[in-house]
Amino acid sequence: MENDKKLFVKLKITSLLDLALIVPNSYDDTSLSQSITAGKTGTFEAIVEDIGNLNGKLRISFLLPKFHNRISSIFFRATPYHYQIFSKGSTHYIQGRVEEYNGYLQMTQPKSIKKINHIIPKYKSAIKHCNLVELISKYITEQNLYNEGLNNEEVATLLSIHFPKDINQIQENNKFKNNIIEKLKFIEAYNHIKKLQSKRIDYPALCSLDGEVDSFVDNLPFVLTREQEKVIGEIRLDLNHSNKACKRMVVGDVGSGKTMVILASVMMAYPQKSILMAPTSLLALQLYEEACKYLPKHIKTALVSQRGSQGDYTEANFVIGTHAILYKDDLPSVPLVMIDEQHRFGSKQRQMLESMMSMSDKRPHFIQFSATPIPRTQAMMQSALLDVSLILSTPFDREVTSKIIGKSDFTNLMSHIKDEITKKHQILIIYPLVEQSSEVPYQSLDESRDYWEKRFDNVFVTHGGDKEKENKLIEFRESGDILLATTVVEVGISLPRLTTIVIVGAERLGLATLHQLRGRVGRNGLDSSCYLFTNDIESTNKPLSRLNQFCNTTNGFDIAKLDLRFRDSGDILDGTIQSGQKFKWLNMGEDEEIVAKAKSRIS
Ligand code: ADP
Ligand code: MG
Repeated sequence: MENDKKLFVKLKITSLLDLALIVPNSYDDTSLSQSITAGKTGTFEAIVEDIGNLNGKLRISFLLPKFHNRISSIFFRATPYHYQIFSKGSTHYIQGRVEEYNGYLQMTQPKSIKKINHIIPKYKSAIKHCNLVELISKYITEQNLYNEGLNNEEVATLLSIHFPKDINQIQENNKFKNNIIEKLKFIEAYNHIKKLQSKRIDYPALCSLDGEVDSFVDNLPFVLTREQEKVIGEIRLDLNHSNKACKRMVVGDVGSGKTMVILASVMMAYPQKSILMAPTSLLALQLYEEACKYLPKHIKTALVSQRGSQGDYTEANFVIGTHAILYKDDLPSVPLVMIDEQHRFGSKQRQMLESMMSMSDKRPHFIQFSATPIPRTQAMMQSALLDVSLILSTPFDREVTSKIIGKSDFTNLMSHIKDEITKKHQILIIYPLVEQSSEVPYQSLDESRDYWEKRFDNVFVTHGGDKEKENKLIEFRESGDILLATTVVEVGISLPRLTTIVIVGAERLGLATLHQLRGRVGRNGLDSSCYLFTNDIESTNKPLSRLNQFCNTTNGFDIAKLDLRFRDSGDILDGTIQSGQKFKWLNMGEDEEIVAKAKSRIS
């Protein structure tokens, strides 16, 4: 048992079905051949007729009594073992590939088989083959598989893969390969969801919340989208529980209106208090401004950030802050905790806020917001661990035209930039690196700033390591024309006059990142452009290339699907989408039905 555990660790598996899903790469068949076919593997009863040496190699002539024929074998790597077992006149079962040479049969380096009429599965794994075979025969039993919740057909499939009765069964499986793969996909999805679900622990809530939200919604200057309403409805049900603290992730594209969902949640918590944590001071400030603008006046809102605070957070109904709030020891305990742009935080920081508000075994209601669209399949799976709401649409269509450009388009780009600046619009240019590097065939931020600064006024420059980053962004928002930056601007700051983004070396970035960057422009419904600048215009401009499909796809959830499709294409990706689980059979881009089926078997 102890030993088995060590083997499981080596195999990196944690469940019985993980083991069942390690399937053989091939099978050895030791049934005796009914005929001799050149070019094919054969297994024969054979008597050693003659032993000799040929240029230092062992040469044996076997008699095949059943076929009244002879076959001659050469052993290139003969060891004492071979001389020992192949004594003249001894009988063996030999197996190997049959060749014909000038009418003579040959079999190079045959194996001597101990047991005939067996099918032996051949596995590839991180442990010794015999150990794996032992584990499989010990644990992959009919009874255990049924106990895992599989049905007749799934159990039969796994058993036929690991313990085929005969060669016919293997041939049958090969013939119905698609069917078998469907089953394996299902088992893989089912196994994964089961594991996630076993990690989910529900705790009682600090209290149930059922504040009134309708008048807030009615007083907004716009009508909420159906999806915003749907998510608010889901949260309303969550918050109504006192025996179970809500754990929800709201996933919606940039600009899908998540802030209104946050504010509605504050209303549903009222008169109880709520807290929201945001990844940057700037974003916290923006959220604070929006809260002041849209929430009714009797809701007291406070801001806590490194850049400055507003209001009294110990008193406020709604506290908005950066991670600075994690270090306030006089924060009141609040029953609703929210995190915006949650993918920007480490899991430690997220948990810290949740546990700061916990009392004995009671937890706050906990809602996270993410702007990284995930495929529906992934959302379905994740929802075993925490509830997931997707906001698939945006309140208004954004007019952003995306285009791949190269060096020869530069003159046009310059005149476009000048035009936009005359219209008081702003330009963002993203460089791959701050400093020059021999590994990146593009100009860096440092190398190119001169060029822009000479030709334009009001050029701002910032990057991830820039301590003044936030100040510069605020200054740029007010008075800048062109902002040169690295991907730092990903964090959801809103620049309403920004209409053009140029991404240098776009083919080097993942689609999720490109999509986030493109989401910076056209936030106020202005006609906007996203230019993907590349040195390799020829291959990136092909109709089916990754970038070209990106240009033609605007919905973040479709982008997430595309991203999956291009994952293995060898493009340099930056891993901003949580890399997630790698599946052997399941295709997260396509197998929605299977995942849904697996999900419903569990819940
Ligand atoms: P995100 O999901 O990226 O956080 P925001 O909440 O910042 O998106 O919303 C983007 C913009 O859309 C904001 O200016 C917001 O005021 C506006 N907005 C939100 N909901 C609606 C709606 N239902 N109709 C019109 N505009 C909306
Ligand atoms: Mg937001």
